[in-house]
Amino acid sequence: MKLFDLHCDTIGECHKQKASLRKNNLNVSLEKGQVPEDYTQVFAIWIPDELRKEKAVKYFDEVCDFYESELHRNKDLIVHCNSLPESEKRIKSILAVEGGAALGGDISGLYHLYDRGVRVLTLTWNAENEIASGAFCEKGGLTEFGKKVINKSEILGMVVDVSHLNRQSFFDVAENSTKPFIASHSNPDTVENYYGKKRNLTDEQIDIIKNRGGLIGLNFCADFFDVDGKSGVEAFKAHLSYLLERGCEDIISIGSDFDGCTLTSGIESLSSMESVFESLLSSGFSEDILKGVFYRNAKRFFSKMLTE
Ligand SMILES: [Zn+2]
Repeated sequence: MKLFDLHCDTIGECHKQKASLRKNNLNVSLEKGQVPEDYTQVFAIWIPDELRKEKAVKYFDEVCDFYESELHRNKDLIVHCNSLPESEKRIKSILAVEGGAALGGDISGLYHLYDRGVRVLTLTWNAENEIASGAFCEKGGLTEFGKKVINKSEILGMVVDVSHLNRQSFFDVAENSTKPFIASHSNPDTVENYYGKKRNLTDEQIDIIKNRGGLIGLNFCADFFDVDGKSGVEAFKAHLSYLLERGCEDIISIGSDFDGCTLTSGIESLSSMESVFESLLSSGFSEDILKGVFYRNAKRFFSKMLTE
């Protein structure tokens, strides 16, 4: 099968556990037999909210060094991509940062991330940083510095990711950006409200991402995914059906959140994805729509957005 996943936290977990990407006990392991035949993964370096300024920059560099060494060590299996090569047979890796605190509050930090190969910037985690306010903040939106970051990101070709933003920050990004942006790992809020914690997307937010030509990656975190006692494929059906009803078939993608959360039961790891696809197919979703969700929509988006 073909899979394009917009978000996992595997690099940070491997770094923490001193484990290798190739062989580990995590959700994403590159060992043979576990990966789809055509597979692109956005690997995020997550910046904890306790880290700001120099500490955040230092932590990013440390994990990024680890990422580079792991990709070098496993270069027979996986390749870092600043754009998407057509003929590549190995696993294609796109690098993301989850938490714009990694810029250290300075626009030069954005160029530093870009030079190190980062092509997706999740502006915040749950708290506020120099750029914007995260989902767990009652107040605050995009800052003046954040507006500069959006503008420079669009010029550079860095994809802006709005997952984890609070509502005000989201609408500020929509107003202060011109290019399509993504919600790499967020679900429709109408289907699963996550105790009102605002990690999922309202209908208005979904429509804005759709009209801009962005992407929404379905997140398998049990807290945001499970709905009315349903988990796994059953919950997947609920989210997918809802987004299809809203006319989102060209922007739905996968944002697994592997190695970043407690997963919904029934989706244990990367190796579950094939059976999830088959189950959805046998429950009546068209193969063409599912191929779009699992791969083609994200492939089309990133082929257009990543220009080196
Ligand atoms: Zn996240």
